[in-house]
Amino acid sequence: MDISLEQVLQTLATVVDPERGKDLVRLNLVRALRVEGRTVSFTLMLPDPTTRFARTVESLARQALLDTLGPDVAVHIELDNEMIGIGDDLMLSGGSRTPDAGIINTIAVASGKGGVGKSSVAVNLAVALARAGYDVGLVDTDIYGPSIPTMFGLKDARPRVDDARKIVPLEKYGVKLLSMGFLVDPDKAVIWRGPMVSSAVKQFLGDTAWGDLDFLILDLPPGTGDIQLTIVQTVALTGAVIVSTPQDVALADARKGVAMFEQVSVPVLGIVENMAYFTPPDLPDRKYHLFGQGGARRLSEALGVPFLGEIPIEQALRESCDAGTPVVEAYPENEAARAFTRLAHQAATRVRLRNATQPATRKIEMLHR
Ligand code: ADP
Repeated sequence: MDISLEQVLQTLATVVDPERGKDLVRLNLVRALRVEGRTVSFTLMLPDPTTRFARTVESLARQALLDTLGPDVAVHIELDNEMIGIGDDLMLSGGSRTPDAGIINTIAVASGKGGVGKSSVAVNLAVALARAGYDVGLVDTDIYGPSIPTMFGLKDARPRVDDARKIVPLEKYGVKLLSMGFLVDPDKAVIWRGPMVSSAVKQFLGDTAWGDLDFLILDLPPGTGDIQLTIVQTVALTGAVIVSTPQDVALADARKGVAMFEQVSVPVLGIVENMAYFTPPDLPDRKYHLFGQGGARRLSEALGVPFLGEIPIEQALRESCDAGTPVVEAYPENEAARAFTRLAHQAATRVRLRNATQPATRKIEMLHR
C-alpha cells in the first residue's frame, strides 16, 4: 500500500525532541519530505547534527516510521543544521525560526473585499488553534477597521512595554494579541501609507515579546491593494488563508487575493467559504444557501488551491464576536464553532505539509537584490 505524506508526518509528530519537549513536526524540523512507493526520505533540521543527541533523535524517528508503516519501508534521513542559510537580514518562516523570535509559522488571513468575515475567521481560527494546544499570536493589521480588540473584549486595553523595551502583547483565550487599533485612530487611517504600515508591522513582529509561537496569525486589511502587498512583503509568510463568501463578486476578489500571494511567492494554504449556508435553529436539518452554493470550492478547484472548509451564517457567531468572546470560546458546541475547529485542524495540516515539502518563504526584498 502506498504511504501518504500525511501518514509520515502523523508518525513523526509522535516523536518528541527531548530537549525542547515538543514533537519534530510541530518544531518544523522535518523538511524536504518525499515519499516514493515504500521509500520515505527527508531532512531533519537539528542545531548540531554531529552530536550523539542528533543521532538519537534520528533513530527515534526511523524507529517510529518502521513501527507504524512496516519493517519493509526504506527510511532515508539526512541531518542538517537549522541555522544554515539564514543571514542576518534574511527572515525565514515556514523554513525556520525567525532569528529574532521563536515564531515558527506566520499566516496571513486575507480577503479580496471587506465584510466577508475575514476578521471573524482570523479570530476564531486563532482561538481554535489555541484550544487545540498550540501557542498562538494574533496581529490585527487592519488599519481601516481594527475589529479584533472588540472581538476579544479588549477595546480599551493597551499593551505595555517591558524592561527590555519590548512590547508585551495582551493575552486572552490563550491567544497573544496586538492590534494596529492600539496605534491608529481609525478615523485617521486614510493618511496611512504602505511604508508606515510596513514599519508598524515590523515592530509588531520584531520588537514584541511573543515568546515561542507555533502560529502568528496576521489579519490583513481587506482587499489586494498597495497596503496589503506591502505587508505581505514585510514578513516571510508561511502561507495565506483567503476568506470569501459564496457570491460571484466576492469570489472574483478572492481570485485576486490568490494572485497577489502567488505574485510574492507565498503559498496559499487554502480558501475558506464564510457565510456558506444558514440553518434555522428550529430546522436543524435544513441548509439554506442564501448566497449561492459551492462557489468557493469550485474556485479552489479552478485555481488548484486547497479548499479549507465552510462556515455557516450564525447569529451566535456575530453576537459573540460583538460581545468580545469568539464563538469557539463562547459556544464550542455550535455548528459555526465546530466548523472553525475543523478549519483550524485543516489549516494546521496544510501548514505542516507545506513546511515539510516546500522551501521556506523568502522575504521579497531578497529576491530583488
Ligand atoms: P471583515 O473582516 O471581512 O470585514 P468581519 O469579520 O468584521 O468581516 O465581519 C463582518 C460582520 O459580519 C461582523 O459583524 C461579523 O460578526 C459578521 N459575520 C461574519 N461572519 C459571519 C457568519 N458566518 N455568520 C454571521 N455573522 C457573521
